[in-house]
Amino acid sequence: MIIDCHGHYTTAPAGLGIWRKLQLSDAKRISSNPKISDDEIRDSLESAQLRIQRERGTDLTFFSPRAGSMEHHVGDEATSISWSRQCNDLVYRACGLYPANFVPVCQLPQSPGVPPANCIPELERCVRELGFVGCNLNPDPSGGWWKEPPLTDRWWYPLYEKMVELEVPAMVHVSSSCNPAFHFTGAHYLNADTTAFMQFLTSDLFKDFPTLKFVIPHGGGAVPYHWGRYRGLAQDMQRPPLKELLLGNVFFDTCVYHQPGIELLLKVIPADNILFASEMVGAVRGIDPETGQYYDDTRRYIDAISSISAADKKKIFEGNVRKVYPRFKG
Ligand SMILES: [Zn+2]
Repeated sequence: MIIDCHGHYTTAPAGLGIWRKLQLSDAKRISSNPKISDDEIRDSLESAQLRIQRERGTDLTFFSPRAGSMEHHVGDEATSISWSRQCNDLVYRACGLYPANFVPVCQLPQSPGVPPANCIPELERCVRELGFVGCNLNPDPSGGWWKEPPLTDRWWYPLYEKMVELEVPAMVHVSSSCNPAFHFTGAHYLNADTTAFMQFLTSDLFKDFPTLKFVIPHGGGAVPYHWGRYRGLAQDMQRPPLKELLLGNVFFDTCVYHQPGIELLLKVIPADNILFASEMVGAVRGIDPETGQYYDDTRRYIDAISSISAADKKKIFEGNVRKVYPRFKG
């Protein structure tokens, strides 16, 4: 089985965007739910994510709301709560229509300056009532201005306690950037991946939460490429070796869109810490003229590496996802 642990509902029907516009312009006029039929959901998936699953021979996608649209910086906490509910409910419906193809992962109703503990009711609703298996956690709800305490600060601890209790991991995932210095998918996302890793490296978070798990997407940002720097920094700071310090808790996905990048990831990071993912349909949608293949067809890159053992490949495609997301029983 090949499980893609990182997909977003980037093709959601227009009704969701219409609801959002109304929410932001005239909250009193919005209906309780976006007007979206099951057929519209089917159409939006059949022509995109489902077609791509079939073409690439992957089986299942862990599916969450569109990351760039989480927009935790927009409006206030109440705005974020009701928007997150709508996005999560729509993902739940999509997964319900195709339970063999999609498994739901939720957006958290974060808001700048608001304690992450306030996200617990929505996390519990999604996990306990709707069967979600994970969440996306935004380390920067300000959208590019980095105003929150680091992910290792006690500010985040009540949410972590709940994640541990529920046995759900978080994918560290920012949303859109309102800082013009940071392009959202090209800079802000990768910056956040790299920043989160460095925060973990400098703290004893995993002593406090030995079973807490994070997935750092997009291949871990700059981390695998600079693994020697991180090992060296940990050593200079008299921190334990990285394997001991965080590799029981921190995992990387394979959303790296060229062959040498995937080869480096697999060479540097232990196979036990790599989860297959493509983020389709997502950040990069085109075809690489050098290969004639889609940039985000990440399975192809892994399949092209002959030195990887069958056992390690199985871990990357399936086993590690099951380990990190124990609520997934499919
Ligand atoms: Zn993503």
